[in-house]
Amino acid sequence: MPDTAQRLQNFTESVIREMTRVSNQYEAINLSQGFPDDNPPALVLEAAHRAVDGDCHQYAITWGAPRFRRALARKQSRFMGLELDPDQHMVVTCGSTEAMMVAMMTACNPGDRVIIFSPFYENYGADTILSGAVPIYVPLRPPTYDFDPDELRRAFEQGVKALVLCNPSNPSGKVFTREELHIIAELSREFDAYVITDEVYEHIVYPPCEHVYMASLPGMFERTISCSSLSKTYSMTGWRLGYVIAVPEVISAAKKVHDFLTVGAAAPLQEAAVAALELPPEYYGELLAAYTRRRDLLCGYLDKAGLTYARPQGAYYVLADISAFGAGDDTAFCHWMAKEIGVAAVPGSSFFHEPVHHLVRFHFARSERILKEAGERLLKLQEYR
Ligand code: GLN
Repeated sequence: MPDTAQRLQNFTESVIREMTRVSNQYEAINLSQGFPDDNPPALVLEAAHRAVDGDCHQYAITWGAPRFRRALARKQSRFMGLELDPDQHMVVTCGSTEAMMVAMMTACNPGDRVIIFSPFYENYGADTILSGAVPIYVPLRPPTYDFDPDELRRAFEQGVKALVLCNPSNPSGKVFTREELHIIAELSREFDAYVITDEVYEHIVYPPCEHVYMASLPGMFERTISCSSLSKTYSMTGWRLGYVIAVPEVISAAKKVHDFLTVGAAAPLQEAAVAALELPPEYYGELLAAYTRRRDLLCGYLDKAGLTYARPQGAYYVLADISAFGAGDDTAFCHWMAKEIGVAAVPGSSFFHEPVHHLVRFHFARSERILKEAGERLLKLQEYR
């Protein structure tokens, strides 16, 4: 049998999804793979029924159904403070997973260098390698997850084509400040690089932090390839609706990549999701209030269980320090915790390029009832300190 492609040997299967399998094996409460418990809003589900009863069952226009793009342009123009044209500035993709891959393949030639902040969402390393680019990692150091601007400059000096910015960040919960974004923006202009953003948690940012879109900073729309999705904002991770937003020159190139990768996102779901994109401003307030309660609930239990962590500023993940348990092996700890404590988390090392083995990632996109149950179980950890 011939060998499979060499490039696949440079990354592993998703540890996040592996931990879901481990969780199922031990019937643990799954706080590993981060997706919400909730259904999409009822009126979106009603729209989905109407869409399926209608006649949009064949391919939509490859870069996105016109109604969907118009609604997306209206919503994102409002939040991003930009005037986005549904025909010029966007490609609709199968989730932000495809959006990121499209962005990477649009920006990079084989051999180009790409800066990735570490810890990072595990897809970015794989995306970089699959697109033939070479990752350069710049640490966001725990417990504060700040970066050193000089270290970032030294990375840019190696000659980079793009920087990946996950903001709010998975897995650290960091929200980049306006000042930090300005530093990144200035370096990307100085070294003529793209910034590829992953902003899927754009509506889950806890005050006083605020979400600043990289593309909205002066001179940055031209060099930012903004990726996001409807998954987290409307609790529809299985609908696989994402998008790339950029200037027309970049979008024409991205359309080609997307067309040959997937042709398009599901036509009836694009139709139905218009109802989500047209939800009133209060929806976003309620979403944030629900996640704030969940964050405070889980963090309260972590406090009681004696786990330290950096309080999430955004997204729905928290990296907790397990050093107090004498655990130098986060993977073994996560397997043990799923089995003995009944709660599944992701070993922090799967997000770090550096050898960091004292953190585990919990997600809190679960109902308050389930988080309470998980929290009660985590209290048992005290016996093992
Ligand atoms: N983004 C989620 C996480 O980080 C889900 C990952 C996935 O399985 N696609 O856990």
